[in-house]
Amino acid sequence: MEGIKEKAEYCLNCKVKPCSNKGCPLHNEIPDFIKEIKERNYSKAYEILCKTTVLQGVCGRICPHQKQCQGSCVRGIKGEPVSIGDLEAFAFDKAMEEGNSLLKVWKKEIEENKKVLGDKKVAVIGGGPAGLTAAAFLAKEGVEVTIFEKYNYLGGLLVHGIPDFRLDKKIVKQTVDNILDLGVKVEYGKEIGKNIDLDNLEKEYDAVFLAFGANCSSKMGIEGEDLDGVYGGNELLEYNMHPNYEGKIVAVAGGGNVAMDCARTIKRLGAKEVKVVYRRARGQMPAEDKEVEEAMKEGVEFLFQNNIVKVLGEEKVEKLELIKTELVQKEGDTRLSPVNIEGSNYIIDADYVVMALGANPAPFVKDLNLNLTKWGNIEVNENYETSKSKIYAGGDLAGVRGTVAWAAYSGREAAKKIVEKLKEA
Ligand SMILES: Cc1cc2nc3c(=O)[nH]c(=O)nc-3n(C[C@H](O)[C@H](O)[C@H](O)COP(=O)(O)OP(=O)(O)OC[C@H]3O[C@@H](n4cnc5c(N)ncnc54)[C@H](O)[C@@H]3O)c2cc1C
Ligand code: SF4
Repeated sequence: MEGIKEKAEYCLNCKVKPCSNKGCPLHNEIPDFIKEIKERNYSKAYEILCKTTVLQGVCGRICPHQKQCQGSCVRGIKGEPVSIGDLEAFAFDKAMEEGNSLLKVWKKEIEENKKVLGDKKVAVIGGGPAGLTAAAFLAKEGVEVTIFEKYNYLGGLLVHGIPDFRLDKKIVKQTVDNILDLGVKVEYGKEIGKNIDLDNLEKEYDAVFLAFGANCSSKMGIEGEDLDGVYGGNELLEYNMHPNYEGKIVAVAGGGNVAMDCARTIKRLGAKEVKVVYRRARGQMPAEDKEVEEAMKEGVEFLFQNNIVKVLGEEKVEKLELIKTELVQKEGDTRLSPVNIEGSNYIIDADYVVMALGANPAPFVKDLNLNLTKWGNIEVNENYETSKSKIYAGGDLAGVRGTVAWAAYSGREAAKKIVEKLKEA
């Protein structure tokens, strides 16, 4: 990676470490690992990162750094923040290149821990960032872990959400292999709600960690949204449902990661025009600036402060009715809210509409007999326990804050709580 030494030297090694304490959800020991890179102790840099994370190569590349670690960097107050993401990715790549691994770093600890918890078994349902992280930290504690995964691969949204042009799948494979080498078992093609049963798992295992995500797109609740040609952004990417976009106009509703990934993917697949319709202003977009800039460079158009109010067509999408919005300060709200401007409606041509406005857990979670939040996520307490004491949940399924690092944090902390309980038993 270019200029890595300069990037490391740029870190001030601050005493207060806001990057770690405030910015990074995982509280990675950022200045410490950067110091080791400065001194070319690359294996030590990787070891420091392994204390808190097993997704270094992934997070280094696709975390919203601007909103997480780099957003809190002291250097960023007057200029550019330290390139923490690049440095984390470098530490991982170097470890893989030099044959270092989680197993090498943790081997002694695992052997010791097996003496205490070697007879305990935990089932992890879903092999995305939350499940993989929980599995790794449980294995580190000497516990026998089995991941039950719906597909025939692990990684979750790192594979079937985030497109290849943002995250090379070689990095995901290296990350997964590194975790499986700890002795984690996997049962592929196992889907809770279909061919595995929570009650049976509860009987068979000492604890169960549910981490099967929440990837069902929210609907807008507008007229015409059931017409042919209206897609949910999450399903479009997960199931690769893309129609032939050649010569077509596609509108994407939303302003986050999913909207950007859908818009850029569809443009690359040959759509004539891709228009992102976002009801707030550019500065309020949840997507990272660099993603928006890339999308613009690639020819994606943006209709800021616009809302889709109706999808028009006989059987399939033909046109869209949009309305303009103004931003108003509502009492008690911390940010400006978009309000439709009466009478500003207008019509645009469209062949497809993609709704990328958030996602929910699959409807079958209601049948698991666990308490749910008002948003339909599995309710957990501060120990990641659900309403049944042996069953824990984390990641998107439990409504954790919707990024890879937050999902991973919930997996790591849930593993810690499960281990505490297993030690008491
Ligand atoms: C398009 C897109 C782009 C994103 N971009 C970013 C980004 O750039 N940076 C960022 O930090 N975050 C991003 N996110 C958010 C991030 O990917 C998620 O917050 C994170 O993946 C959540 O991890 P998870 O383990 O909870 O769920 P998931 O990643 O969804 O993993 C769930 C796992 O469970 C499996 N599963 C599903 N149902 C079942 C079942 N019934 N039984 C068994 N297994 C099952 C799935 O196959 C999957 O392996 C993005 C999300 C999307 C959709
Ligand atoms: S805040 Fe920035 S400069 Fe300070 S230790 Fe963290 S990365 Fe280095």
